[in-house]
Amino acid sequence: MLLHFFFLFIITVVNTESSIDFHRNNDDDAHLDYDGYQLLRIKPINNKQIELIKQFQYDYQLDYWNQPFIQQKHDADNNNFQSILTLINPQQKQFIKSKLNQSNIDYDIISENYKKIIEQQNLEINLAKKLFYQRSLSANVNVNDYYYDQFDYGNYHTYDELYSQIDYLANKYPKMAEKISIGYSYERRNIFGIKIGNLMMNNNSSSSDQKIIFVECGIHAREWISPAFCIWLAGHLLSSSTTSQLTSLIDHYQFIIIPSVNVDGYVFTHTHQRLWRKTRSRQYGSFCIGADPNRNWDSSWCQKGSSYDPCTDIYCGKRPFSEIETRQMATFLQKYNGKIFAYFAIHSYSQLWMFPYGYSSKRINDYNRLRSASQAAVNAIRSLYGTQYKYGSIADVIYLASGASVDYVYDKLQVKNSFALELRDTGTYGFQLPIWQIIPTCLETWTGIKAAIKILEIY
Ligand SMILES: [Zn+2]
Repeated sequence: MLLHFFFLFIITVVNTESSIDFHRNNDDDAHLDYDGYQLLRIKPINNKQIELIKQFQYDYQLDYWNQPFIQQKHDADNNNFQSILTLINPQQKQFIKSKLNQSNIDYDIISENYKKIIEQQNLEINLAKKLFYQRSLSANVNVNDYYYDQFDYGNYHTYDELYSQIDYLANKYPKMAEKISIGYSYERRNIFGIKIGNLMMNNNSSSSDQKIIFVECGIHAREWISPAFCIWLAGHLLSSSTTSQLTSLIDHYQFIIIPSVNVDGYVFTHTHQRLWRKTRSRQYGSFCIGADPNRNWDSSWCQKGSSYDPCTDIYCGKRPFSEIETRQMATFLQKYNGKIFAYFAIHSYSQLWMFPYGYSSKRINDYNRLRSASQAAVNAIRSLYGTQYKYGSIADVIYLASGASVDYVYDKLQVKNSFALELRDTGTYGFQLPIWQIIPTCLETWTGIKAAIKILEIY
């Protein structure tokens, strides 16, 4: 312990680069309104610059909203290096920009003050909530498909609102839905979910034989479109359960939907910091809070694309399943070992349809099937509104990332159809995806999932 502090002391003294505090440790409990924060789009043009950008991430604790990745040889001709969005605080901004200039790395300032973007979106959300409330008070309201059940699926919702909507759905459709819980979070919130299927209440053995489609949402707190998709999916499956296409799906499968795995983080994005990503657990020996719950699964834990530094956003935690949320998810999933037909982990943003592995560039045995299913999904998505997705293994499409849920369920729970999705958009709005895009995003994602299932069934 003493030795630990001694080393910390040495590191602090040796780090003479500047007196700027690059660690956001003291901010981890703060109310942040992001006043003066700038959003930069960094535009690398070669792999050497990407290496440097990666180094900056570690050296200066930068929060990259999408990860820089080295372009593979076969892509080398298209010169299509993805730009990286990063939000930098007022203390960092001059220093970081001078570092980029020194390295001849081009960048744009997308927002001079991110506070305004967040305020604008909050305004929209609150206005839409007010309008919806007023409309639902009116007796003659002509509700369209997406405003059923007095819940506005076309808006973002708080933890409490999601929770009561799941309650509502389970009560309204007792023969088809059951509220479930995978346990309690670090801050003792219920990590709730819903099970949806036709046969579960029929008192025959066939319901337990039904294969499961598992949808995991909100493992990263700030990706609000993810819980929005899960709650929409629950509502959509139940309210349209009589249509023939859905009946056949619900006859064949049980859906288990967890709208917000990282509930503490999600609440924190509403109360303190809109852009919080991790869990909210206290880390022994550090002021920094939380671990990345999608680097915390026991699957090549804390290898590539993760960090042992609790102050980074990709901190893998003290050990595999150190976070109570991932541990309970795994325990819950183990009960269904061998019964899960497909697993979908829903993230944002980047418009990517991915499958294992994240921790290795090695091809999985099921590569061809998952690739075909992904291709079908991406085509189906494009056919709806023209939204373009890329697809492939996580390691190929974005970067090596170890300790992710989809690798774990694929390797350890024999879920051979395991996918990680990054929904809209590609960076225009990023995590602040406007509310008018929620329903189209949900519809196209669901279209993609159905297309993937179709291929998986016949392959
Ligand atoms: Zn994510």
